[in-house]
Formats: sequence, C-alpha cells, structure tokens
Amino acid sequence: MEVLHRFSFRLLPATRSLNLTKLSPLYLSTRIPIYGPAFPNQTLQFTSRRPLSSSSVAKAGWFLGLGDKKKTSLPDIVKAGDPVLHEPAKEVNPDEIGSERIQKIIDDMIRAMRLAPGVGLAAPQIGVPLRIIVLEDTAEYISYAPKEEIKAQDRRPFDLLVIVNPKLKKKSSRSALFFEGCLSVDGFRAVVERHLDVEVTGFGRDGQPIKVDASGWQARILQHECDHLEGTLYVDKMVPRTFRTVENLDLPLAEGCPKLGAR
Ligand SMILES: [Zn+2]
Repeated sequence: MEVLHRFSFRLLPATRSLNLTKLSPLYLSTRIPIYGPAFPNQTLQFTSRRPLSSSSVAKAGWFLGLGDKKKTSLPDIVKAGDPVLHEPAKEVNPDEIGSERIQKIIDDMIRAMRLAPGVGLAAPQIGVPLRIIVLEDTAEYISYAPKEEIKAQDRRPFDLLVIVNPKLKKKSSRSALFFEGCLSVDGFRAVVERHLDVEVTGFGRDGQPIKVDASGWQARILQHECDHLEGTLYVDKMVPRTFRTVENLDLPLAEGCPKLGAR
C-alpha cells in the first residue's frame, strides 16, 4: 500500500534527500507531497504518475546506495490490468519457505516496498503469484503526517512483518472509512471501508507459525495486502464516487458519500 504524504522530499532520510536531483527521471512528474487530511495512516507514498520502469528503479536503487548493478535489479511493481493482480495467488509450501528462491522473493519484496516507498506489498505486485506479504510503518514515515490524521487513523509504527500464507479474520465489528492508495494503481485514491481489528496467522520467513493481532492503520494495511492475494484491488471494493486522482485528494466528497472515520 502506498504512503500518503504531501512532503515527498521530506519522506526521505536526509542522506537520500541530498541527492534527490539525481532522481529526477523518476520523480519528475511527482506532485510533491500529498498531505490529505483524509489520509492519515497511509505510508509514504510518492505520487508519481509515471510507472516505475526497471531503468528508473535501477537508477533509484543506485542512488539510494543499494549496491552494485546486480543488487539493484529489482522487479518492477506490476500495475493494474496485469492478470497476476486479478487472480488468486498460490500457497507457498511451508517446507519451501527457507529455500533460496522464496527467501530471494521476500528480499526483493522488502526492497521494492522500501524503494517505492510503501507501507506494504504483496508478492503478486512484483509479478509473483504466491501468498506472501510484507509490511512496515516507521516512526519517520508517520512523523510526516498531521497529528490529527495519525490519531484519526490510529496509526502507530510497527517493525517489518513478513507473512507467508496469511489468513485474516476480523476480531470485532468495528470498521472505518479512509482513503487509501496502492502502488499498483499509481496516482489515485479512493475511500475503502476496512475492519478496525483483525488477526492474521501464517508463517514467518523462518518458516515458524506466527500470529499478528492488529488494529487501526496496521489492520488496514493487512487487509489491503491480503486482498491482493485474492486478486482483489482496493478499487474492487471502494466506496463508489470517491475515486480520484492524488491531486484531488483534498477536494470534498460527493454528496451522499459516507463520512470518513470510524463507524
Ligand atoms: Zn496494493
């Protein structure tokens, strides 16, 4: 899931910001920060309207000090319309989680998510039809969001989570409506109603069973990423007439649309 701030430059650590001009091919069309009041909990999300080509990703990777050419050969983030995003993903054989292949997929996902940057990514988003998700939200990402948004979205930092074969269930009847975005639907946002309390079970990257109890924004990210594994994008369940470009994020909702927030 994308991050949603209006200060794209400020979202980057200072060491990255210093050389930002070198990223111009990648961020030229980026509308600088998005700070939608409606968007409190989303992660760092650049609003580039241009798909990240492999060459631009490679340049960015180089710029961000990710290492030599070989190490920067990250897969592109797949965009809406590609069948891999619209079909259910397959379970990973738990005995294979420790394999070099699966571990590399996980590493690629983490790097792609951080480079985007985003707060979550599902394996189909790098073209891999397997049930693996990664997510993280940091104090730094959150520090760029307005305090009232952070509070409304119940957004708190959490460490990197890798979940293989996640199974999600809601833990209460509470839900909330907020805008969200997706790295595979670049440049747009829409309101989605999500459960506020969920439990996700699955396996960690070490092959051991894990269970995550989440609420607020973290619960939203988990639902968004698990939806990807079913071939579902947020636009498939958005509140009608709330879809909009990032540039129009702050404009009022159409008459009759439900209010944002918990319900
Ligand atoms: Zn997504």
